[in-house]
Amino acid sequence: KAKGSGRSTYAFYSQELTSQAQQRLELASSLRQALEQQQLRVHYQGIYDLSNGRIVSFEALVRWLHPEQGLIPPAAFIPIAEESGMISAIDHWVLEEACRQMQLWLSQGKVLRFVSVNISSRLFSHADLDQHIARILRRTGLEPRYLELEITESAVMEDPDAASVLLARLRALGVRLAIDDFGTGYSSLLRLKSMKVHKLKIDQGFISGLPDDQEDAAITRSVIGLAHNLGLCVVAEGVETAEQAAFLLQEGCDFGQGYGFARPQAASDIDWCDSTMSYGQRITV
Ligand code: C2E
Ligand code: MG
Ligand code: MG
Ligand code: MG
Repeated sequence: KAKGSGRSTYAFYSQELTSQAQQRLELASSLRQALEQQQLRVHYQGIYDLSNGRIVSFEALVRWLHPEQGLIPPAAFIPIAEESGMISAIDHWVLEEACRQMQLWLSQGKVLRFVSVNISSRLFSHADLDQHIARILRRTGLEPRYLELEITESAVMEDPDAASVLLARLRALGVRLAIDDFGTGYSSLLRLKSMKVHKLKIDQGFISGLPDDQEDAAITRSVIGLAHNLGLCVVAEGVETAEQAAFLLQEGCDFGQGYGFARPQAASDIDWCDSTMSYGQRITV
């Protein structure tokens, strides 16, 4: 290739690269290093039985412990990880870490039903996802029923037919399935019927207006009814106040998750208190 053409190509790109795009490229390459240098962390947020305030499970949420910038939330790097294709490697790492942690909790006698892990739409489009999951379960020794996969409603709707097939295979593996951010992804009721999941998670966008916002209240009520009529259980995300928790309990919502109960935290920071190994909730309904 001629020297000149290389140079002009470079000049073209350097003009096109906005500082934002440049930043994204740099972030993508340092994210690759972060994975290699073990800078990712998993934090766990409790999910509570609204009827008795007891913890039933944890959701695993990834963070990046950056050597200079400190703890970076997933919203700041998941989109870049998705663009660059690194998201699958990250999700695999989080899955294995969460399964290992859950196995440890069980061996310590903690009473938990399962650990929930988020699956990106990229990973969800891998036809062999069930094989990957089976391998991770074998490696960590965790029984499938102790793992729940959270797939967003929008990831399912990218290719609903493929999603139904994959969900069926995952279900056959014995893991639990939840639809995350439900209410934001335009799935039809017919789809929901064929998806055969165990749980719906009501997006926190509908919870924040409770109990006063009439539309949020109506939508939340309908999703709870829909879930129960289909034989699914239902979790409310982003529960911050006792009033929200009380409304949800009154409407028959099964579980709640949110800062009002507990923030996501490192496994080592979780404060297990009483003999049943559930830990103290700040909201009492
Ligand atoms: P999500 O799966 O819907 O997770 C719930 C998010 O809501 C978490 O944010 C959690 O910290 C936050 N949250 C919980 N309770 C409250 C509350 O009371 N109020 C408010 N305002 N927020 C609350 P986080 O940890 O920043 O994660 C954001 C999103 O990033 C997650 O949304 C999930 O879609 C994605 N994510 C996190 N970890 C992973 C991962 O390991 N893999 C993939 N693919 N995505 C992940
Ligand atoms: Mg989730
Ligand atoms: Mg969610
Ligand atoms: Mg959400």
